Amino acid sequence: MKLKTRLQVKPEQVKEAESLGAKYDGRMKSYYVPEHLPLRPFESFMTLPIELVPSSNWEKNVRSEYQDEWRAIKRKVYQRAGYKCEVCGGKGDAHPVECHEKWTYDMDTKTQRLECLIALCTICHKTQHWGYALIHGMEKDVRKRILTLNGWKDEDLNKYLNEVFDIFEERSKVNWTLDMTALEHYR
Ligand SMILES: [Zn+2]
Repeated sequence: MKLKTRLQVKPEQVKEAESLGAKYDGRMKSYYVPEHLPLRPFESFMTLPIELVPSSNWEKNVRSEYQDEWRAIKRKVYQRAGYKCEVCGGKGDAHPVECHEKWTYDMDTKTQRLECLIALCTICHKTQHWGYALIHGMEKDVRKRILTLNGWKDEDLNKYLNEVFDIFEERSKVNWTLDMTALEHYR
């Protein structure tokens, strides 16, 4: 059977999804990506897309650049989110939420730009740090979280992870310039 990777398409996103090649399956009652198409172009229709920070820039982040202010910045993010995960609505065991930096990457200008900070529970957060999750024995938990959030099977996730790690390798060859202008919203 051919792989049909389920998408979470909101009514106002239908046109965009179809223009990218998504198909509707009446039995699944959902849009899906046909097997021959890559999944990354459909990330805006996934509940928690995986954006790995390039290894060339692991030393630099909001925490390292704004050490003195980091606690206050985090607190603001948590308060706005009501100390609940902004993706699954849950709370972690050891602490309710963690602060996650969402970046975008411009290959032409070699700019890694901070888009926003969000509060995530531990498991949702670790989906964004796949290598860390592997090393710390959390692979089963993070896999399950992604499968549940997206209504996926293992094969869907494996296909997506291959693409995610390909782009990670590409981006890790670049020396990125950080743009943290968005931080103004949290200070
Ligand atoms: Zn969560």
